[in-house]
Amino acid sequence: MKIRRYKKVNKNLGFFINNFGFRQPYQLLVDGTFCYAALNNQINIVDNVPRYLQGEIKLVTTQCAIIEMENLGPKLNGALLILKKYVVHRCGHEGKPILGAKCLLSMLGKKNESHYVVATQDRDLQEKLRCKPGVPLLYLHAKTPVLEQPSEASVRAAKESLAGLRRSEIEALEELKAKNGLAKEEEVKRRKKRKGPNPLSCKKKKKGKMESYIAKKEGRTEEEKKKRKRIRIPKHIREAVLKNKTT
Ligand SMILES: [Zn+2]
Repeated sequence: MKIRRYKKVNKNLGFFINNFGFRQPYQLLVDGTFCYAALNNQINIVDNVPRYLQGEIKLVTTQCAIIEMENLGPKLNGALLILKKYVVHRCGHEGKPILGAKCLLSMLGKKNESHYVVATQDRDLQEKLRCKPGVPLLYLHAKTPVLEQPSEASVRAAKESLAGLRRSEIEALEELKAKNGLAKEEEVKRRKKRKGPNPLSCKKKKKGKMESYIAKKEGRTEEEKKKRKRIRIPKHIREAVLKNKTT
């Protein structure tokens, strides 16, 4: 298989793994049309599909799909034999079989909870599958299996659930903050910030000439007063000065 095809499968399968929780072994829900095409193209499903998907698969079908093939006559006997080899999943129509396509659709439920990859050549069924989100579609293009790129419905559903997840994450975070009183603290911080720059991150303003003059006039600070040394005047000089004043 060419590298480009590998990349395409990885991308398409990865989408369903990441967004819809698909895991190995991938459950391949197969109908008679797929088996018929495989037989006509001499494709061995058990070998080819796992190699194509690069993963383990589990082949499953339903009673209704088998009964439909039986009713279509001996021409489809070969395909019927292949289909009968697969695991039969209960579909709820036991005793009252319905059309294979309808049965397969009913197996998907609302969200394809069982993570089926549907393998069919039925064009009508394929169209309906594209409308259901989270359903990978596999078909044969001549001899090569093709995992179709995710339908618009799937892409939309994935985007919505991601947006919902983000929303709920934000809500949960806000709730947690409120519980721990962090919301208030942050609000206070924000208000403080608006008042002015952080003083710790700013250079000290140098005093201008005028300001230092004013400071001198207003008197020295306590510290400056403490720092100032007392100049001791010798006794004899003090006496001499005092004598001068009196005379
Ligand atoms: Zn059924």
